Amino acid sequence: MLMCRDLARIASDYIDGELGPMDTVSVKMHLMMCGHCRTFIGNLRASVDLINAHSSQQLDEELVRRIDERVTESLNARNSGNGNSD
Ligand SMILES: [Zn+2]
Repeated sequence: MLMCRDLARIASDYIDGELGPMDTVSVKMHLMMCGHCRTFIGNLRASVDLINAHSSQQLDEELVRRIDERVTESLNARNSGNGNSD
């Protein structure tokens, strides 16, 4: 079973369509069950779109760092807010 932190690690590959069929299915199944990761993927996808719009060749380091911070924040918010599931 795919864990949230596993999903976070492969999320960008998922968005880029670079995961294998098995991993893609695992991600989709996880997203069906986990609203936090749906939000996470949504935010990440928006960020990727932003990067692609910003530059297709060269990534702005500051932008990437800000996105990284936001991703970490949403993961932390998820962990601290997880009290009564399961
Ligand atoms: Zn999750």
